[in-house]
Amino acid sequence: MSNWVLSYDDADTETEGLRETLCALGNGYIVSRAASPDSRADDVHYPGTYLAGGYNRLISRVGDHEIENEDLVNLPNWLPLSFRIDGTDWFGPGDLDVLDYRQELDLRSGLLRRRRRLRDREGRVTRWEERRLVSMHDPHLAALSVTLTPENWSGRMGVRSGLDGSVINWGVERYRSLEGRHLETLDTLSEEAGLLGLRSRFVQARREVALAVRTNVTLDGAHALPSEIEVLPDLCASIFEVDVKEGRPVAVEKIAAYFNSNDHGISEPLSEALAHVRHALDFRELATQHETAWRHLWEEFDIKIGSEENSSAQLKLRLHIFHLLQTASGHSVDTDVGMPPRGWHGEAYRGHIMWDELFIFPYLTLRMPVLTRALLRYRSRRLDEARRAAREAGFSGAMFPWQSGSSGREESQRVHLNPKSGRWIPDNSHRQRHIGSAIAYNVWEYVQATDDRAFLRDYGAELFCEIARFWASVAEERPDGRYGIRGVMGPDEFHTAYPGIDPSTNGGLDNNAYTNFMAAWVLSHVDDVLELIPWDERQQLCDRLDLTEEELRHWEDVSCRLFMPFHDDGIISQFEGYEKLEEFDWEKFRADYGNLQRLDRILEAEGDDPNNYKVSKQADVLMIFYLFSREEIQRIFERMGYSFGGDNIFDNIQYYMNRTSHGSTLSWVAHAWVLARADRQTSWELALKALDADVSDIQGGTTPEGIHLGAMAGTVDLVQRCYTGLELRSEALLLNPRLPEEVERLEATVRYRGQVLDLDITQDCLKVSSRIMTAYPVTVSYRGQSRQISPGQSFNFRLIPEIKPDRTARERAQERVGEYTGSSDA
Ligand code: BGC
Repeated sequence: MSNWVLSYDDADTETEGLRETLCALGNGYIVSRAASPDSRADDVHYPGTYLAGGYNRLISRVGDHEIENEDLVNLPNWLPLSFRIDGTDWFGPGDLDVLDYRQELDLRSGLLRRRRRLRDREGRVTRWEERRLVSMHDPHLAALSVTLTPENWSGRMGVRSGLDGSVINWGVERYRSLEGRHLETLDTLSEEAGLLGLRSRFVQARREVALAVRTNVTLDGAHALPSEIEVLPDLCASIFEVDVKEGRPVAVEKIAAYFNSNDHGISEPLSEALAHVRHALDFRELATQHETAWRHLWEEFDIKIGSEENSSAQLKLRLHIFHLLQTASGHSVDTDVGMPPRGWHGEAYRGHIMWDELFIFPYLTLRMPVLTRALLRYRSRRLDEARRAAREAGFSGAMFPWQSGSSGREESQRVHLNPKSGRWIPDNSHRQRHIGSAIAYNVWEYVQATDDRAFLRDYGAELFCEIARFWASVAEERPDGRYGIRGVMGPDEFHTAYPGIDPSTNGGLDNNAYTNFMAAWVLSHVDDVLELIPWDERQQLCDRLDLTEEELRHWEDVSCRLFMPFHDDGIISQFEGYEKLEEFDWEKFRADYGNLQRLDRILEAEGDDPNNYKVSKQADVLMIFYLFSREEIQRIFERMGYSFGGDNIFDNIQYYMNRTSHGSTLSWVAHAWVLARADRQTSWELALKALDADVSDIQGGTTPEGIHLGAMAGTVDLVQRCYTGLELRSEALLLNPRLPEEVERLEATVRYRGQVLDLDITQDCLKVSSRIMTAYPVTVSYRGQSRQISPGQSFNFRLIPEIKPDRTARERAQERVGEYTGSSDA
């Protein structure tokens, strides 16, 4: 298997939805699923195309209630292309026998290729050779090239190429009973030969989207003219009829352009789209431009993990980078979009923006910081909405929503369907207030990596302070003299309330350890943030925010006195009272159900509730160890007046690993990360699991609804930051590599404070080379050895072998991994 090409050698209706997602093409402006051009939405195929940040709201009825959801809108379909022989009906995917099949997603060039030999009932065999791109050079363009070759027949071949505005949102089965008609068609038209256009509007958001296509059909070098144009209210198509001879190919090229009314530098979307396709180059030339754009991206973003044995892991890492860049690229920088956890690849989570950027930004920041900056602006533009939400809830500062869409209001659904029981269940996930801390953390990390003080001054500090202010206003003084935060949920979505309490009326938990720790961290960093801003501008900011010295001192006080729950010996309780919950009978349930990842659904269907048990969907307490170094953790605990030694960390990891079902793909990444030092072997096994999450759809059906971008970026970041021991500090870039034994060599490139540093790491050597440019020197440090490095210089550090072998840790952890992971039959 090439580590640049994801390929399939058969046509498989069972996994077609998965392949459509994994082979989707995009450029940060649109993403288009890899559905076959001759398919329509049915139980096998789903030809969705989505605009980054293209949301619309609809009201649905569920039982007696009206609920409003904001969805990522499935755009008019640019793909429709089919053929027929001698005037038969147009062939669809199920109408022909597939004799040979090969599908390749070429990550290096960003091209999707599909080759199939198709036989009709009369025994006539036609070869279909397709190439497809969504241009990384020009974000408005997508192109399809299909060569149709009659292998054993001569006659009249019909080709029908069109566009379809009648699409609805139908991609996620659980949402199908909800309203999905987001578009109304305003115009369909055909212009000169083969040029079609459609203008539609999001029914509530009123955003207009235009699609234009140009189709060229060529036989023996001569262009055919359409014999017929169909223009219906929602659809239009050009029909070509050509006389073909056995073995002589017919070349079909379809170039499409999408524009929308929020685009910059346009007059009106449809006229722009039509002009764009009219003047577009042909497929070959578009492919050349597109490949060049991808080559440049790979020069910035690739990561190499050496050896043949890691070929499959290497391919998956590249696939993850590929999808990350298709979701957000240079083309996103000037737009107002956030980072969707499921990509713009499907309709899962309705394209909403959640906390997954915590796993995504670190990789982007070290490669293309301007992208993180743009994505953080999505948050700062919605600061007022977050302020409003805090005020309405009786707090001050900014309360960011758990799920965010167009305006930044809370978009979490109020009820969700448990497909196992068929029941609609109240959804309380909006109580995950920790999202605000993730935003503040991302601001801080971005500034650490870039020293972008202008961003901090103009947007970042305000975000940071308002999030801190929210925590200080939420924290209540307790009788024991500490502060507590009540009624929230941590990242573990299995726990929504205390046992026996109705989560919708009295939900949430008190003192979720992760939430409190993050709140303490945010509050304790406000001074550090403000100190990076010149005195007079800091004063202006404080005036604007009405932030007094007294309030700052209060924040400081809260940060030192926040309560952290513990039980047993040094085990951090996920929340206050966690220790009173029952232990869960994993053995019994594993025997009954096999895969326990979505234990919440299993238990609800059984009339039980995960709130009763010590079970977690994903890393919660362990997120503390995921985000912070041991030194930082100890420092914050000390400030809060708790003693927490390094040894406690491993005990906590063990404790929670044994109680986690990994119902979120983020969980694999977090666990692989926290074990990286103590138990390299298990860490690498978990990393491989996370690398497999989408390619093998280990959640059994979620990837067809969209990729898992947090886990995708998280795996790349695991390699880039965790196994290299990379930490960003203002005074130095710290490196402390410890590669998994299976990885002989790791090559990555990072940007740090104006320099581009190539890292070349083996099991015993670290080489850092700075690329030639004009930039100030920076300090790179390996275990206390610091070197100032200027552009053009390189340094080698001989790695000190670990004194403590990690066998014991491995032995202890190993029996658990794979046991609670549901790996056997996921
Ligand atoms: C996880 C969340 C995550 C979301 C999107 C959920 O399953 O519990 O933490 O933000 O998926 O990835």
